[in-house]
Amino acid sequence: DAVVMWFKMDLRTTDNRALWEASEKAREAGVPLICIYVVSPQDFEAHLTAPVRVDFTMRTLRILKEDLAALDIPLYVETVEKRKEIPDRIVEFMNEWGASHLFANMEYEVDELRREAKMVKMFADHGLAMEVFHDTCVVSPGALTTGSGKQYAVYTPWYRSWVAHVHANPELLDTFDPPSKNPPDARDKVAALFDRDIPDVPENKRLSEEDAKRFHALWPAGEHEAVSRLDRFCEEKIGQYNERRNFPAQAATSSISAHLAAGTLSARTAIRTARDKNKTKKLDAGNEGIKTWISEVAWRDFYKHVLVNWPYICMNKPFKPEYSNIEWSYNASHFTAWCEGRTGFPMVDAAMRQIRSIGYMHNRCRMVVASFLAKDLLIDWRMGERFFMEHLIDGDFASNNGGWGFSASVGVDPQPYFRIFNPLLQSEKFDPSGDYIRKWIPELTNVTGKAIHDPYGRGAAAQAKKAGYPEPIVDHKESRNRALSAYKVGIGRD
Ligand code: FAD
Repeated sequence: DAVVMWFKMDLRTTDNRALWEASEKAREAGVPLICIYVVSPQDFEAHLTAPVRVDFTMRTLRILKEDLAALDIPLYVETVEKRKEIPDRIVEFMNEWGASHLFANMEYEVDELRREAKMVKMFADHGLAMEVFHDTCVVSPGALTTGSGKQYAVYTPWYRSWVAHVHANPELLDTFDPPSKNPPDARDKVAALFDRDIPDVPENKRLSEEDAKRFHALWPAGEHEAVSRLDRFCEEKIGQYNERRNFPAQAATSSISAHLAAGTLSARTAIRTARDKNKTKKLDAGNEGIKTWISEVAWRDFYKHVLVNWPYICMNKPFKPEYSNIEWSYNASHFTAWCEGRTGFPMVDAAMRQIRSIGYMHNRCRMVVASFLAKDLLIDWRMGERFFMEHLIDGDFASNNGGWGFSASVGVDPQPYFRIFNPLLQSEKFDPSGDYIRKWIPELTNVTGKAIHDPYGRGAAAQAKKAGYPEPIVDHKESRNRALSAYKVGIGRD
């Protein structure tokens, strides 16, 4: 007999609701808790998961296995090629170990929700029980509705309601303890599970040796690292977050997104830790930096709620159906220039080189490059959304889709379509010294003064040309007008 915990994107022992529930069940029944994680190369492919994110997951699994082993709990990791075979494999696994109860946290993407709904029924048919919990959001999807009972499609009123809900239910921020140690005989009973190694990264997602070295140094994995990153940020930087968060040359944000995406950190713990640094228990009062940071973490909840309420956004459709008629350009050389960071717009290029190099991009730059792709180049935003997923260590469907929808003005609570970022002004405002640009574009390291934002227009043309930095591929004024008319025609406002 045993109780099984199925890990997914919740790779931590502390503050993990399903793991805690599973542990309680096992303790009450006096049986061992055993854990499983299924690696599905096909799932990675279908979700466009970036190799750097897969690698981060596999490294995390090794740490999780050790942490659980210290509690005499085994973590068994198996590769199942075809995703549709996962439910059967889990049933088989449960039968092998005589387990009748499976615990898991819920994932809200449409394929996963469908799979889990099917599994609950299938389990019942097999005489097994499956319990699935809300865990990834602080406030579960479905809990907040407008006064007239509708789902919120605008962030600010949603956020007010989110804050009020947490204030009324402060236990939502309580932590779940790590699982209890397995009974003394568990080690013998399930010994075979302890012996199995974590499989290698599937071939379709393997990093080159050089990339692996760089990424491992940049992004240490596991929940201990996640908590120490969070603690350091709350200790040293959160107080100035509101003033400094928009400047990509400053390391002023928490850089915990990869951990929230892999589930090595819970959103509850993130918000609780920040709140406990404040002099008030209120989430929307006190220190400006703390308040602002909490409201940013809440965006993550917001986009997950949106995903649950309007699941068609998982199917390549814009949140606003009337925005389906915009005629996008599919100019391949423009798209390649954008992907490679060779558009001739230094702020855009620096950001694209950052994502390619470290699997991460600063939030301000994500907005700038997304707006540039969708508006200046008028390229289908879904191509950019896809490119981000294929490169980000923190790639998360809901936040990525939400960010692209916002920037391309096709999403929930978006930037109005006529608001078009001027990449030059964004650069002057948010990278005034040009340090961010110089860091990522070696061709421009020696360009000084304002020319860094626009070398060809500001007197550093010869220098940029000599160093091989490209000229701008479009004229912002012209492309702005083109975008305005394409959006107007597309949405029928012409
Ligand atoms: P901090 O500023 O320290 O914020 C803390 C946490 O709050 C983040 O880790 C994140 O979980 C959450 N958060 C902050 N801003 C947002 C936001 N706008 N939307 C949703 N959550 C937010 N974030 C992802 O986690 N995965 C993605 O795939 C992703 N794609 C994006 C694509 C675009 C086009 C845009 C504009 C934004 C995207 N974001 C995404 C949101 C945001 O850029 C990152 O969460 C943030 O840059 C991560 O850095 P940080 O952890 O230092 O953030």
